[in-house]
Amino acid sequence: MVECLGMSKIFKRTKILATIGPAVSSEQQIRELIMAGVNGCRLNFSHGDSETREKQIEWVRKAEREKGRSVAMLQDLQGPKIRLGAIKDNHYDLKEGDEIVLDASLKEHAGDNILPVQYNLATKVKVGEPIFIFDGKIRTHVAEIVSDTAIKLVVENDGFVMSNKGLNLPDTDFGGDILTPKDMADIEWGATRDFDYVALSFVQCGDDIRKLREILQGHGSTAKIVAKIETKKAVESDETLEDIVVASDAIMVARGDMAVEAGAEIVPIVQRKLVAMCRKHAKICIVATQTMGSMVDNPEPTRAEVSDVANAVFQGADVVMLSDETANGKYPLETVKAMKKVILYAQNNAELQSIDAAPQSDNPNYDALSAAAARLAEQIEADAIICQTASGATALAMAAQRPTLPIITVTGNEQVANQLALAYANSAFVRPYSEEFGLDLAKELKESGYLKSAKGADELVVVLVSGNRDFCGTDTIKIRQI
Ligand code: PEP
Repeated sequence: MVECLGMSKIFKRTKILATIGPAVSSEQQIRELIMAGVNGCRLNFSHGDSETREKQIEWVRKAEREKGRSVAMLQDLQGPKIRLGAIKDNHYDLKEGDEIVLDASLKEHAGDNILPVQYNLATKVKVGEPIFIFDGKIRTHVAEIVSDTAIKLVVENDGFVMSNKGLNLPDTDFGGDILTPKDMADIEWGATRDFDYVALSFVQCGDDIRKLREILQGHGSTAKIVAKIETKKAVESDETLEDIVVASDAIMVARGDMAVEAGAEIVPIVQRKLVAMCRKHAKICIVATQTMGSMVDNPEPTRAEVSDVANAVFQGADVVMLSDETANGKYPLETVKAMKKVILYAQNNAELQSIDAAPQSDNPNYDALSAAAARLAEQIEADAIICQTASGATALAMAAQRPTLPIITVTGNEQVANQLALAYANSAFVRPYSEEFGLDLAKELKESGYLKSAKGADELVVVLVSGNRDFCGTDTIKIRQI
């Protein structure tokens, strides 16, 4: 006899976002990732070309249709990730006390201490400000603004740089000017493609997000916005962090650059704060970078990585993200499988840590209704919560309650379903709108065997959450036996 596992035990509530890159460069490989449990795919616009991206989008959408489940597509803009240009022989040694010049007008590196850089910093930096190169491996500070296009730096430690290595400028104020010409061109390109989310790198304040939203709307894009939290300015005060959370639809805890800009020791604290703030405001929280980093080269994660992913689950993160592991690693599929295993074991064997009070978003009506529905469903030991939603707000409010059972969402809008693929505990389906489309979907999913009774019973018990817009969009909670 096949053991009947409760659905709450086999549906992962924390989702997986995988970065697509050369390691998964075929339709088959992308299909395998999605079948193995990937809920969203990220295209990193710091790398790659548009021809490859067109193919990647097509492959993801094909796999999604085959699986019959929504998958979120995320466009990750490079932002002001300033990089060196091409360095002669791809190597330049540095010693403590050396002076180097970064010149944006330099076309070719002659092998001397004048290095090309892909962004004109002369108009942005001030003397004394730190500049970190090559993921913080080289620490420098600005000694002089040499010309309209060049700055002089003093090197603070021995090491070397290579072509195109990134720069971090933790104390530099970009004055609200964080979208580069490359980002603007990528936004325009992305607006006519099938992206559900646009992620903005190096966000410094809520206004950066408000500005991006206007630009996206100007291009007719309805993509939601992910704010990548990685600058010192963004994490300096809780007010700034919360303003960014409120202005965004989702947050990415971009732990890689955050550690370089603000110090590695603050990363776990900021992560906890952001998961809690996102829950409070019914926004999606993505925990990113080095989650399974060693699996770039090894078929097994380290104990510390398993703990890191499990801790993100205990904290109630909506999503854990894979970067190099799936984009460039040797074991992309094994990584996704290992991550899914850790998520399921963690959620099924421990309570969520109580990191914050219940959500108190701007809409107390949503909060009260979703709280009541979640507790009701848990108390009556329902098999699932079924949400009917047009905009996705009802499903996000339910997710913010972090219920221990699956949220099955039905919407008439395909993009809303794709966006909800990253929301905690949500499985979203697209069906034509009707008053009863939630109940109809539950019946259909029961017949197909997708929904099963946790107790092995013939009947399913579901809590249906819906609305007719008189009250707050959601005003009805029903219990139904199917
Ligand atoms: C990070 O720095 O953690 C991050 C996610 O940014 P990216 O991978 O785009 O550099």
